[in-house]
Amino acid sequence: MSVKVRFAPSPTGMMHIGNARTALITWLYARSKGGHFLLRIDDTDLERSKKEYEDAIEEGLRWLGMDWDEKARQRDRLDYYETKIQKLKDSGRLYACYETPEELELKRKGQLARKMPPLYDREALKLTDEQRNAYETQGRKPHWRFKMDYKPITWDDEVRGPVHFEGADMSDPVLIREDGSPLYHLCSVIDDIDYGITHVVRGEDHVTNTAMHVQMFEALGAKAPGFAHLPLLSDAQGGKLSKRLGALNLRELRDQEGLEAMSVVSLMARLGTSDPIEPFTDIKDVIAHFDISKFGRGTPKFDQDELVRLNAKILHHMSYAQIKPRLEQIGLADMDESFWDIVRPNLEKLEDAREWWRVANGPVEPVIEEADFIAEAAKLLPGEPWTRETWGVWVDAVKTQTGRKGKPLFMPLRKALTGMDHGPELADLLLLIGPEKAKRRLKA
Ligand code: GLU
Repeated sequence: MSVKVRFAPSPTGMMHIGNARTALITWLYARSKGGHFLLRIDDTDLERSKKEYEDAIEEGLRWLGMDWDEKARQRDRLDYYETKIQKLKDSGRLYACYETPEELELKRKGQLARKMPPLYDREALKLTDEQRNAYETQGRKPHWRFKMDYKPITWDDEVRGPVHFEGADMSDPVLIREDGSPLYHLCSVIDDIDYGITHVVRGEDHVTNTAMHVQMFEALGAKAPGFAHLPLLSDAQGGKLSKRLGALNLRELRDQEGLEAMSVVSLMARLGTSDPIEPFTDIKDVIAHFDISKFGRGTPKFDQDELVRLNAKILHHMSYAQIKPRLEQIGLADMDESFWDIVRPNLEKLEDAREWWRVANGPVEPVIEEADFIAEAAKLLPGEPWTRETWGVWVDAVKTQTGRKGKPLFMPLRKALTGMDHGPELADLLLLIGPEKAKRRLKA
């Protein structure tokens, strides 16, 4: 059986690291099995769903290197859902209820006071046609509940292992609101059936939903797909992630934090698995090593500092061919391969390369506070060709000649060569500046 999965975001907010993780793991699941990936926009909440969020989701997926074989929008299928809804009403699995929220709340409080589980009592099933008509004449509009079968619900979850619920312990869920709009559950199950979804990968916040979905699949005459429920990320302290949403917004990680997409991919593909976190530079390798059974049930902690450390490692591993498009993006298209190879072990974020580029190529205003010392040092500059050893050879010579060492030796050289009292490693920098510019700066 060929695998078909879907990522089904609700476009009601900016794409954040948690959504991105679910998307990535679902996508890797498909791609590692030669399967099909559907992007499904769950936009039935007409008020909260926004096109800009939908666009941001697509932008986020593309940034991370994901593609999709097909795209669907629930909003385009509302009429179609109606036909399926009618069938469920006809078969009695969807039934009309007239309780107001206040009445439901009263029932709930009563049940809790009697130490009973707050399940819907199915009073609506006992209504006579007359009572129903009376409610309608009063202007009450029904909401519709799905009648759960009182039987065990089980599935073998690819992350959680065997899962067991009892239908009798679950309240009949409301699937149609008073205004007639269907809730996510119904549209999701109908779509999963129609699009032939074989495996549903999503967050563990949906586990209870899945229990009722399993019965909805059956009620709609289909077999439930396989399921994998991922534990949700927590922050570095183990708290809820959403509290710091700002910094976890995918676009911010890219634009404000300046992180590489492969850092997010590398971390999200491995966080919460039994495999080590590795700095991948090519998403194909991530696909090749992906295995959903490696995900555990523990809550993975997301630590932005870990992401930044991984970003550094990834930059250190990136070949010139891999980084070239990014250099072009940030306006450093002139940086050549040899420059990149020297500079990359020193970078934490790609933006850091800009400073190296400027210090190497100018404009630099040399700062010379001890002209005699610098003149002496200039005379001792080694001949060409320069290598990474040149700096050490030069500094040794200056040390022998002048008797200086430590900071009084290095700092005047740094200030003369770069115009600054801090910055990248001089051994690398000297090589990037090159003999011609070095001499000019030392003589300024
Ligand atoms: N739109 C739902 C969400 O974002 C989809 C969940 C799912 O079925 O995967 O939570």
